[in-house]
Amino acid sequence: MDCIFCQIVAGGMPTDTLYQDEEIIAFRDIHPMAPTHLLIIPKRHIPSLTHLSEEDLPLLGNMVNIANQLAKREGIAESGYRLVINCGEQGGQLVPHLHMHLIGGRRLSNELG
Ligand code: 5GP
Ligand code: ZN
Repeated sequence: MDCIFCQIVAGGMPTDTLYQDEEIIAFRDIHPMAPTHLLIIPKRHIPSLTHLSEEDLPLLGNMVNIANQLAKREGIAESGYRLVINCGEQGGQLVPHLHMHLIGGRRLSNELG
């Protein structure tokens, strides 16, 4: 198993777990780009957005719902935040296991890159 995020799911990597249920886990990004920078990921290895099937759409909704709850818990629901899913090389995806970034706690650039 050479996927970093699968190792985190399996408990083989020390992580500050903020949320988990049977299909999703959330933890802090190791290189935060803002005061709040969390990652929300499916426990199942899905390489990227392009690998999502129609049956996975509820999973994506659940990931957004958990991100919203975590934003409240982090105290940034009112000030605002950004959810980002990078996909593929030109989309800036470095870890090939689907993940959603929850970023906030400072004024983010209006540019998306
Ligand atoms: P991507 O560029 O693929 O959308 O984002 C991958 C993110 O995963 C990066 O923000 C990076 O800092 C984070 N990351 C990479 N390896 C680890 C790790 O081992 N632990 C944690 N918590 N975050 C990681
Ligand atoms: Zn994986």
